[in-house]
Amino acid sequence: MNLESFPDRPADVVIVGAGILGLAHAALAADRGLSVTVIERDERAVGASIRNFGHCCVTAQSGELYGLAQAARRHWLDYAQRAGFWAAESGALVVARSGIELQVLKELASAREAGQVTLLDAHQVTSRLRSTHGTPDPDIQGGALLRDDLRVDPRTTVAALAAWLQQQGVRFLWKTSALSFDDGVVHTSRGPVYGGRTIVCVGHDVDYLFPAAAAEHVIRRCTLQMSRAARPAGLDLEPAVLTATSMLRYDAFTDMPSSDALRASVDQDLLDIGANVMFTQRPDGTLILGDSHAYQHTAAPFLAERTTHTLNVEISGILGTPLEVVERWQGIYASSPNGALFVKEVAPGVTAVSVTSGVGMTVSFGLAERTLDTLFPAG
Ligand SMILES: Cc1cc2nc3c(=O)[nH]c(=O)nc-3n(C[C@H](O)[C@H](O)[C@H](O)COP(=O)(O)OP(=O)(O)OC[C@H]3O[C@@H](n4cnc5c(N)ncnc54)[C@H](O)[C@@H]3O)c2cc1C
Repeated sequence: MNLESFPDRPADVVIVGAGILGLAHAALAADRGLSVTVIERDERAVGASIRNFGHCCVTAQSGELYGLAQAARRHWLDYAQRAGFWAAESGALVVARSGIELQVLKELASAREAGQVTLLDAHQVTSRLRSTHGTPDPDIQGGALLRDDLRVDPRTTVAALAAWLQQQGVRFLWKTSALSFDDGVVHTSRGPVYGGRTIVCVGHDVDYLFPAAAAEHVIRRCTLQMSRAARPAGLDLEPAVLTATSMLRYDAFTDMPSSDALRASVDQDLLDIGANVMFTQRPDGTLILGDSHAYQHTAAPFLAERTTHTLNVEISGILGTPLEVVERWQGIYASSPNGALFVKEVAPGVTAVSVTSGVGMTVSFGLAERTLDTLFPAG
């Protein structure tokens, strides 16, 4: 990086943060012919965008988020092809282990266009979960396939997209922290960076830069416990796998008439840790297992072994096979009781964009498209 080049090359757009939100804005801005500089405090992105399941949970959104998720889906597939990263039109498999879980799935299937939510019988579900030494939970009564969900590999996607954008002429300033903002200039730990518009995509750390705006939107940190398990022999799982607790977290399910009865049926142990028991299989065969949810302004760094145990016992029970955990980590994302999106002009020429719910991968490119349409209207 040539520090002296900072003032010489003002970009049309300066983006702070090289997580998926920052990169989605960078990609779509570059495709509009705008010159783009991305500022990232670390030498590579290690935030929420690499710590998640890689699940673009499109089908289970509703309202505004559903529209953004469908738009994002189109862009995910397009950039996967152009930038050469893995993305699968896998759908998501929702496992139902009780009559009330099946009922919510039936209600969703009848609320959606034909083919978007396909109800499955017990055999159709268990056959997808079978491994060499595993017998899936005999309590599985059926489930549903959510057609429009996608999967990407969270460990590799963001780095691949950044590398490709760099080849397309997007300038990246790594190991550079944005400190403060004036119209047309970002003051960084390495000097000023000049540009036309600034878009700040720093995820849950938006409160460090804009405390008043973050407080007004009641932004806090949601911490999640995650782990990764070795591939159970013979398991090949394309879709993301969701369960009853997942159905408590996404609006398409909670909008259904039987969702209150579903909540009442879920084990208190799982409700206590804010569980969304779900898992995905990475291209290397390992399983990403999660997750729990706890909300605080400042995230406590400690992982509770009991929480990981509760989640992994559930998943092991569904697959009917022991799981060998090879890694654990904490994820953090921005959260707010006031809505899933925080998009605000925080200073003249400076727009902050954070997804304040656990759907940033899902809506990423759709939200970025909307921001750019607003900031750079056609014509
Ligand atoms: C465990 C977990 C599971 C999840 N599962 C899913 C899922 O399955 N599907 C889904 O849609 N979403 C999921 N999410 C949510 C999703 O991952 C996030 O909403 C999304 O990644 C947020 O992207 P981002 O780019 O805003 O933030 P981040 O990925 O956190 O990126 C922000 C970047 O900004 C940089 N930065 C911060 N401050 C500065 C500064 N001052 N100067 C320069 N750089 C700075 C950081 O270093 C970081 O690289 C999950 C999140 C977690 C944690």
